[in-house]
Amino acid sequence: MILDGKAVAETVKADVATRVAALNQRGVSVGLATVLVGDDPASHVYVRSKRRTAEATGINSFHHELPANTPQRDIEALIEQLNADPAVDGILVQLPLPHGLDSDRITELIDPSKDADGLHPFNLGLLVLGRDGLTPCTPTGVLRILEHYGIEISGKNVVIVGRSFLVGRPQALLMIQKGADATVTIAHSRTNDLAAVCRGADIIVAAVGVPKLIGAGHVSPGAVVIDVGINRTDDGLVGDVDFDAVQDIVSAITPVPGGVGPMTVAMLMHNTVTAAEWRAAGG
Ligand code: NAP
Repeated sequence: MILDGKAVAETVKADVATRVAALNQRGVSVGLATVLVGDDPASHVYVRSKRRTAEATGINSFHHELPANTPQRDIEALIEQLNADPAVDGILVQLPLPHGLDSDRITELIDPSKDADGLHPFNLGLLVLGRDGLTPCTPTGVLRILEHYGIEISGKNVVIVGRSFLVGRPQALLMIQKGADATVTIAHSRTNDLAAVCRGADIIVAAVGVPKLIGAGHVSPGAVVIDVGINRTDDGLVGDVDFDAVQDIVSAITPVPGGVGPMTVAMLMHNTVTAAEWRAAGG
């Protein structure tokens, strides 16, 4: 089975649009501010898609584009201004920032209640504690795909390949929450015999950044494979999984593109409307 992230993302966006319309009816508008620094082509593509999706779901998009040589203090001043702006419910600073800028400091300056990406240390702390907060978009999107297709993770052996703060770590935390109840192994570049570790998995989440790293020798028959990787190669966009090599062995797999990528954007809108609802409720 091909897990169609694009289709699942449409259901998330439809839900967001309904919730935005309900807030609008109460006189509450919803706004997402995007901050793009520099001229990294991939970042421009991502931000354009985020702005388009915001507008399509009824979220007001406020875009701020700054040159690569913008001083740190100017970006910090912009974040403070957006924190104070009542029209802004979510703030997204597109990463990576140009060399020389302190992205940790900038991320930490975002008001955690407007942290649309769910990457502020406060929100990551809530995730560790198992308390409600805004959660990182990509790993939350992965869970949504599994949920949508009725793929149970409770009690299952999940191997997550990659331990980044953006994907691997929060993915593990989301999957071990009470209610999700997976048994999680996190693999990384120092893992011994990655193939053997992966073969023990009912579900593999690959978030590595190495094209086609996960091949036929890494998957057991019937496993579910979620490919988070987006690698630009001469052959176009390629995931971390060798799709052709594993597709006849596994029971379900996400394609690249059209798998996890669209979910990341949809979950950004989900976080933005969630933040707006909390604010409207006085939270
Ligand atoms: P990252 O910060 O570079 O982390 C990569 C992780 O993979 C690290 O933990 C690294 O281990 C591990 N790793 C590297 N080589 C390995 C190997 N040969 N065997 C096992 N583990 C290995 O990357 P990221 O930000 O998590 O992104 C991962 C991939 O997902 C990239 O392709 C990125 O473009 C993609 N991505 C996609 C979306 C989406 O929306 N679909 C969103 C975010 C990221 P160490 O910690 O030991 O170095």
